[in-house]
Amino acid sequence: MKNLNVENLNEELRDPAKVQALLSAIRKFGSRSISLMEVCGTHTMSIFRYGIREMLPQNIKLLSGPGCPVCVTPYRAIDEAIAAAKHPNRILTTFGDMVRVPGSRMSLAQAKAEGIDLRVVYSPLDAVGLAAENQDREIIFLAIGFETTAPTIAAAVLTAEELNLKNFSIIGNNKTLPGALRVLLTSPDVKVDGLICPGHISTIIGSEPFRFIPEELGIPAVITGFEPVDILQGIYMLLTQIQKETAQVQIQYRRGASSGGNPHALKLLNQVFQSGDDNWRGFGVIPGTGLKIKKEYEHFDTLKKFNVTIPDVDDPIGCRCGDVLRGAAAPLECPMFGKACTPEKPVGACMVSTEGTCAAYYKYGG
Ligand code: SF4
Repeated sequence: MKNLNVENLNEELRDPAKVQALLSAIRKFGSRSISLMEVCGTHTMSIFRYGIREMLPQNIKLLSGPGCPVCVTPYRAIDEAIAAAKHPNRILTTFGDMVRVPGSRMSLAQAKAEGIDLRVVYSPLDAVGLAAENQDREIIFLAIGFETTAPTIAAAVLTAEELNLKNFSIIGNNKTLPGALRVLLTSPDVKVDGLICPGHISTIIGSEPFRFIPEELGIPAVITGFEPVDILQGIYMLLTQIQKETAQVQIQYRRGASSGGNPHALKLLNQVFQSGDDNWRGFGVIPGTGLKIKKEYEHFDTLKKFNVTIPDVDDPIGCRCGDVLRGAAAPLECPMFGKACTPEKPVGACMVSTEGTCAAYYKYGG
């Protein structure tokens, strides 16, 4: 996008005149049915918050994919954190989003009510600070997220190493998105004509890891920002590719993403983590999509340190989080939506996370 006034960036990216101009341009693409998928929870929330689905012509359908890291984290991760924290000498730390996510028996909030010492932190480095201040206690950080948060978690591990902290460890649940997109986009029950690629992840990994989407699967992809003008421009770029029958990865979100990503962040990430298989809710185990702590840093791995092993468990009967995360069902197709499952009493993570599709449908009225 040219000539952006950076001092009024948000106003410009929400400018009704620009939104209207883009909508007029989008309406000129005709009446062919087109399904586009966004795979970032922040996109999902922005699309609902600004009513973008309702603004688009009816033949253009927006689907939500597996881009909410809280939602794709299996129940086992919560169970592991509770099991690891059940000791009077241990403090469990995590992001606020995780506190009410259900485990197989209870959430972290319920476990806190039963006695575990749970603290919410804004950054993994806060957990390292807590470890430095409380060297007589074990500080555990429950890490989740995609490539966006992994470098800060790596930085926390490296800082703890530098400070020679023996009382800090992490339960690592960071995942990498491109491998899951390959599984999703080759699923027979998911039909996607174009992909709105995540802006935040792309600031770290760049556009290169998404090249297989157009080159091998023939699906156009656009890395897109999060404001209404960004999203509509990303949709316009996808429709242009579809109309021209071309497929490539384009970057709409040029103020944040580049083709090569952030080399400093990638260096940190690769210093501490290596690729391994990981379990995704809705998908099962996907090879090479987990970030596992490297051997030289495994003394920071909580599960190894305290010998915690917890089996995987299935989603609750009737919960369709898995289908929702694959874009194969809308939340309204889940019989529990708004009845047995609400943000106050969530059954699945998709209803509790601030980036969850069910939470977005509930908050903004579907
Ligand atoms: S409404 Fe609740 S139970 Fe149904 S899919 Fe969403 S989170 Fe799962």
